[in-house]
Amino acid sequence: MTPNKQDWQQLDKYLDLFSQITRDFVDTLEQRPVAAKAQKAPSLTLPQQGHDLDELATVMSEHLLPNLSASRGPRYWGFVTGGATPVATLADWLVTSFDQNVSKGGDSIATEIERQTLGWLNQLFELPQSFKGIFTTGATAANFLAAMTARQFAGHQQGINVAEEGVYGLDIKVFSTTPHASMVKSLGMAGLGRKRYQQVTSVDGTEAMDTQALAQALARCSSKGKVVVASAATVTGTDFDDLLTIGKLCEQHQAWLHVDAAFGIFDRLVNGSDGRTRGIELADSITLDAHKWLNVPYDCGMFLTRHRQYLFESCDVPAPYLVQSGEEPDFMSLGVENSRRFRALPVWLSLLAYGRDGIAHWVNKNIRQASELANWLAQSKDYEMVRYGDLNVVLFRPIIKGLNEEQLGRLCDETLSAINADGRIFLSPGQWQGQKIIRAAFSNWQTESDDIDIAKKVLLEVFAPKQN
Ligand SMILES: *Cc1c(COP(=O)(O)O)cnc(C)c1O
Repeated sequence: MTPNKQDWQQLDKYLDLFSQITRDFVDTLEQRPVAAKAQKAPSLTLPQQGHDLDELATVMSEHLLPNLSASRGPRYWGFVTGGATPVATLADWLVTSFDQNVSKGGDSIATEIERQTLGWLNQLFELPQSFKGIFTTGATAANFLAAMTARQFAGHQQGINVAEEGVYGLDIKVFSTTPHASMVKSLGMAGLGRKRYQQVTSVDGTEAMDTQALAQALARCSSKGKVVVASAATVTGTDFDDLLTIGKLCEQHQAWLHVDAAFGIFDRLVNGSDGRTRGIELADSITLDAHKWLNVPYDCGMFLTRHRQYLFESCDVPAPYLVQSGEEPDFMSLGVENSRRFRALPVWLSLLAYGRDGIAHWVNKNIRQASELANWLAQSKDYEMVRYGDLNVVLFRPIIKGLNEEQLGRLCDETLSAINADGRIFLSPGQWQGQKIIRAAFSNWQTESDDIDIAKKVLLEVFAPKQN
């Protein structure tokens, strides 16, 4: 097949095929194993002459469709995973249909839609409109921008323009208690070093920062550039740092405060701005994820900052043919990429379609489901409910009397493998206070209480053979 313009005359044929694939995949979502059984690349070779559409359909149905993950479905509870709603799914299709390049304004409304969507997200989460930012590929990319922006700020405090001169000679100290792994990676990528953060002690029995320990660390710190990375919430225990206290300490010590609120920000839809994220408005920058609890397709996250100038200085594209198109900085000068897809569209259309109430509905539902599973586990004689932090994540492990910690760790690994091999639900591993645990995280809009019943059944069945 050689493409030419006439291909568009056959658009219906393409739409039929790809719509059918979409329909079949969605229709079979609940029947297929949540994790694919075969994951090896198919035995296909690069063709000299391309295949026609019918052959492509065959290739896809034989080699691709049977071995996909059902992670967008209702029973994939590994990591923190959303599944795109119908509007978000097809909005993402339109992103590709429209194929806009949201690098700079001047030829499309797409840039203004991205700005509007960021403003709406501030409203959704009750954040001041002084937070400006950009859509990223996810929370990792947002955390990377946070590291870049914070180091630019730290540079300014000591007369170094890091974007121009580099990090050599920069005096910077980072404090955090339980940073997400992607934040640690970002410190490395930004040239600050993965090992260069000082771990502030946690509040006993939690992953949250001990703010008195932070106060002491900041008071003792003689570094000219101070950065605090806080969590709302941590990915394992869903613990929230006390952002109000931390925010005030940062103001007092002229420290940059970055808050990784990838999925914890959704607590605001349940408990408002006075709940566990109280004080987040004191942050200098915030990371948010959209492809988790907002249930839009990969890849979609957001970086917000009250000091866009530092972001701009870090990411500005110095080329004469790329002069800025308006008063607001172009998006290519606020992020990693020059050319960018119209990533805001699925979020914009989701917000229009579902509104604040629609989103709050599935967030509340997921929290109820996590709490139901936690209660059931607490009653179970086969499992120990290790931790439920009143949000969407439950930590637990299988338990057999008389086993030592090492044996319990092995039992935990084996049980998790058996659960995932069963194929009805999918969970991921973790560690809590040094012990191995299994983690169930609920952030999919489609999950219903029948799915929790299925989970209970699986957990009972998987455990049973272990007892003899
Ligand atoms: C998931 C997550 C990340 C990383 O996000 P990606 O979108 O996978 O890049 C960062 N921080 C927290 C708290 C997360 O939950």
